Amino acid sequence: MRIWVDGGLRDADDARVSVLDHGLTVGDGVFETVKITRGHPFALTRHLDRLTRSARGLGLPDPDTDEVRRAVGAVVEANPVPLARLRITYTGGLSPLGSDRGDAGPGLYVALGESVRRPDSTAVITVPWTRNERGALTGLKTTSYAENVVALARAHERGATEALFPNTAGRLCEGTGSNVFVVLDGELHTPPLSSGCLAGITRALVAGWTGARETDLPQDVLERADEIFLTSTLRDVQAVHAVDGRAVPGAPGPVTAKAMRIFDERAADDLDP
Ligand code: PLP
Repeated sequence: MRIWVDGGLRDADDARVSVLDHGLTVGDGVFETVKITRGHPFALTRHLDRLTRSARGLGLPDPDTDEVRRAVGAVVEANPVPLARLRITYTGGLSPLGSDRGDAGPGLYVALGESVRRPDSTAVITVPWTRNERGALTGLKTTSYAENVVALARAHERGATEALFPNTAGRLCEGTGSNVFVVLDGELHTPPLSSGCLAGITRALVAGWTGARETDLPQDVLERADEIFLTSTLRDVQAVHAVDGRAVPGAPGPVTAKAMRIFDERAADDLDP
């Protein structure tokens, strides 16, 4: 495996990040996970826009998106696999032991791992912890992801693959690494960005293609929704067949199946929509 580390490709065994990197020591960094299909990054422009927005939110200098594109191209070329997940990490760079950034400038790392196609449906759990819809990091894709790691581990313990968070007002928000859609009386809804969810790239594409409405929803809507599905770069559109062990009958239902079909058709046509 060849990885891009600060300006060049290295073998994974030789790719080193300093123990003083701010992304590691205090989570002062941002990242993107990009899907590589048929040797091409999907929706790369949108990912680079969000990387830049996240970096600005942390007060990091704007990433050089030409360099990031070059790094992505080099890593994809050096690691030919049919379906892969590529991780772009951009951090505060080296710093002394305090919490201030050093002068060495930001760090850019690009790595790639093989990926597998997810099943069409999955089980999810809900967690008692909340997403803060008004925090400094709300809506930013930062390397401070440990809360998601903890919630996802809880899901795995219970035979599920995703955990859904409410926000502090008890409204439906998002999963650890996905956005959520629900069908009520035949209409498709997804929580608005004001719920505190990440502006998912798959969410925006699917909402645009299906005409889903942004609706502020209580978390317990999950108990009465006719259909529920998740969206993310690695899941595409994935039906939910159980919430907290309770079956969602008929998953994937007709609205979900249509969203899956539309996504597969449109995404295959245009790798950078
Ligand atoms: N919400 C969170 C917290 C995420 O980490 C992700 C994944 O990146 C998503 C939602 C889905 O976003 P996308 O569709 O851009 O992968």
